[in-house]
Amino acid sequence: MTKKYQILIILSLLLFAGFITTSLISYYTARDSLEREIEESTLPLTGDNIYSEIQRDLLRPIFISSLMSHDTFVRDWALAGEQDPAAITRYLKEIQARYETETSFFVSDKTHRYYHPTGTLKEVSKNDPQDAWYFRFKSDLAPYEINIDRDTANLDSIAVFINYKVFDYDGNFIGVVGVGLSTSVVKQLIDDYQRRFNREIFFINRFGKVMIHSDTYSGVDQIRNSPALGLYATRILTSPSSSFSYESEGQTIYVNSRLVPEFNWYLIVQQANNPASDKIYHTLILNLIGSVIVTLVVLLLAWLTIDTFQRRLEALAHTDKLTGLANRQVLDRVLPQQIAQARRRKEPLSCMIGDLDGFKQINDTYGHPVGDQVISSIAELFTAMTRRADLVCRWGGDEFLFLLPKCDRMQAGQLAEKLREAVQSHRLRVDNDLVGVTLSVGIAELGEKDGPDDLILRADHALLASKGAGRNRVSEQTSQSQAVD
Ligand code: GH3
Ligand code: MG
Repeated sequence: MTKKYQILIILSLLLFAGFITTSLISYYTARDSLEREIEESTLPLTGDNIYSEIQRDLLRPIFISSLMSHDTFVRDWALAGEQDPAAITRYLKEIQARYETETSFFVSDKTHRYYHPTGTLKEVSKNDPQDAWYFRFKSDLAPYEINIDRDTANLDSIAVFINYKVFDYDGNFIGVVGVGLSTSVVKQLIDDYQRRFNREIFFINRFGKVMIHSDTYSGVDQIRNSPALGLYATRILTSPSSSFSYESEGQTIYVNSRLVPEFNWYLIVQQANNPASDKIYHTLILNLIGSVIVTLVVLLLAWLTIDTFQRRLEALAHTDKLTGLANRQVLDRVLPQQIAQARRRKEPLSCMIGDLDGFKQINDTYGHPVGDQVISSIAELFTAMTRRADLVCRWGGDEFLFLLPKCDRMQAGQLAEKLREAVQSHRLRVDNDLVGVTLSVGIAELGEKDGPDDLILRADHALLASKGAGRNRVSEQTSQSQAVD
């Protein structure tokens, strides 16, 4: 793998790691603060709101029962020996109609009679399990209780009873009075809260038993039996209020509980699928997509920049500064390729080396900068007179090498002669002088057994021959095999 790709891979890894880290940090920070917000503020507030509504909706019957238990009529009537059952029946009927309760009742402790708006229903008995509530409540210390039970007047329906103790003027227990509400009314209330607050609401007693819930409730009857909520049961049942969240089936469920002392029950408010956390999740996904796009764009820009600089550097490394011609490094790369290609295609390949004659003299006479000008102007001449396929290379100070594909020694000789003549007639104006120079050339054509060095060496020998023969001429060096031809 080249350095370029290593740099790009490291860059993309760094960028992506940076983006992912910041995206994830902001995601988890936002999620945490949202969770905390829900746990510590939103759900408890909902609990408070529901609690105050419950007070409004359910405490009313408690007050009614309380009023009944302190009503002097009830007490006087009972203390007077329960003489006129129609009077208490009328009273209970009034309560039922006036306060729209499901039922209302009075149980006398003296006669154990159960009075109801429609008359005397029965006598409560210790032996009847249905009446167990009465004897339990009687022995309880609490002045009132909320009890969910079968309605004695209508055995098929379950009702919420608010039982209130009645005492005589000396504080002796003389019976229990109260009202009953249909549980469907309570369920409707809960349904209504659920809809309005968009949360699941139910009540549990102090032992974790689910007492009232809406029809849509799908949880357990006892929270200790719930695999997830069960873990928090002790926490809920031992503190007046608690807030927490747990994971269930990939969802975060937020829970708030609070004790409603009037019922001696806990109100549980649950919330799942928080829409705001979905939004945070979508933001994370968008951030990650954005990160990928930015990473790709940065990579593309980096790649283009590196590529441009690489090309520029390569060009600089392969170009002679003064003339803009190719340098020796290019020849090292190109010559073996050209030889291989010429062999494959069975085409001729020729090499020429040209050296300016007496160039030192120009430097000495006109100075080095003028020498430079002469070299570069002659280089331009060479470029203009050769084909695109020819490689013209600055071989040394005043020495040029030509690699001529598809060119045999005859054609190379013709070109060399043209170049020699062109240099000879080329003049460079320096002040009032016209500076001229001549060119000696050595030619060699690729022989069957020639390697790159052989070809150059023979061209060089030919050049020496030109120099030795008096300069400003073209010589040719045949290879061993060509000489045999
Ligand atoms: P010959 O006919 O034998 O080639 O004689 P010459 O004077 O040309 O001698 P030679 O080719 O051996 O020397 C080339 C000179 O070119 C030597 C050096 O001072 C000069 N030279 C080399 N590179 C540069 C260059 O970049 N600029 C200039 N101005 N002169 C250079
Ligand atoms: Mg020279």
